[in-house]
Amino acid sequence: MIYLDYQATTPIAPEVDAAMAPWIAQKFANPHSPSRGGHEAEAAIEVARKHVERAIGLHGGSVAFTGSATEALNWALKGTVEAARADRRERNRIITLATEHAAVLDTCEWLASQGIDLTVLPVGRDGLLDLDLLERELDERVLIVAAMLVNNEIGVLQPVAEIAAMAHQRGALMLCDAVQALGRLRIPEGPDLVAVSAHKIHGPKGIGALWMREGAEPAPFIHGGGQERGMRSGTLSPQLCVGFGAAAKLAVERCDRDYDHVQRLWTAAIKALGPGWTINGSTAHRYPGNLNIRRDAVDAARLLADLREIAFSLGSACASGSGRPSHVLRALGLDYRQARSSIRLGFGRYTTHEELTDACGEIAAAARAQEHLVA
Ligand code: PLP
Repeated sequence: MIYLDYQATTPIAPEVDAAMAPWIAQKFANPHSPSRGGHEAEAAIEVARKHVERAIGLHGGSVAFTGSATEALNWALKGTVEAARADRRERNRIITLATEHAAVLDTCEWLASQGIDLTVLPVGRDGLLDLDLLERELDERVLIVAAMLVNNEIGVLQPVAEIAAMAHQRGALMLCDAVQALGRLRIPEGPDLVAVSAHKIHGPKGIGALWMREGAEPAPFIHGGGQERGMRSGTLSPQLCVGFGAAAKLAVERCDRDYDHVQRLWTAAIKALGPGWTINGSTAHRYPGNLNIRRDAVDAARLLADLREIAFSLGSACASGSGRPSHVLRALGLDYRQARSSIRLGFGRYTTHEELTDACGEIAAAARAQEHLVA
């Protein structure tokens, strides 16, 4: 199996596996209990928190652990609305982008059903937000602007620092979904809230985090035992926190090396695929570990079925399962047929040049075979 689905999830790093191991079987104390084992677990969690904060790299805030980035995004949006209502602030409007992850879009839709005024901005054919459009839309009713840094389906980078500066000028907050950016490139200063996930950086599944600028904390999301400064109750999992911390530490240490590796893989993949493919989204503003491409007359779902030994996808893992064409590709202006002939190849730290070029060669051959059948 050649694994080319790094946006869906990433392989656990051996260092993460080793760091987590003692916390699974031997060290089982509750990190919130006053026993010696509890204190030890609590200390390990705080070390992990620092590693995650360092990987996010922003100043003036701190991280609370969550069960996933989906939870962090739900908390950021719903909790910010809740905090504004409690303060009796007039702001009742959210702005987001058509290419956001479902964790943002569906949460915003739900908030709209609860009375929030929602604006979903379109993007250009390159997947980028037009900042003039944002400028025209921003007004003093906007509470929060949500935009992701690296798109999970097409790898395009939004100008998050500029978006945050514009939001702040109008007194709004900015939420950044940095799930696909963490550890891969620097997160720019500006956002007030940042959602991340361990399993996208070679850490375990089932843990994410919300970074909150001091003073911009959303209202508490899960009520109960008062963990995470009373904002997100529930016993923390030492093994998951330690795994996330180890993955974040490694990501900081390896960020530049990983990026150079991925950049070389991008060039090699394009060469190995050969002519006839079109890249979806901007080629200039992007993370190079995400290659979303299409080819006329290709049935991407069939390609996926024909090439069972290569793990790649049709867009987000969620979109691939639904059979619906990706909302991100539709937002770029691709028609139904073009969206149906698009595939996403995702590669990273542990992808070798040889396996990537082999897989691209096979994908290109299978695509050509489909074309012959159609002809
Ligand atoms: N945001 C983006 C951009 C993602 O790629 C994902 C995962 O697919 C998520 C949010 C949700 O992350 P999690 O799997 O931690 O809920």
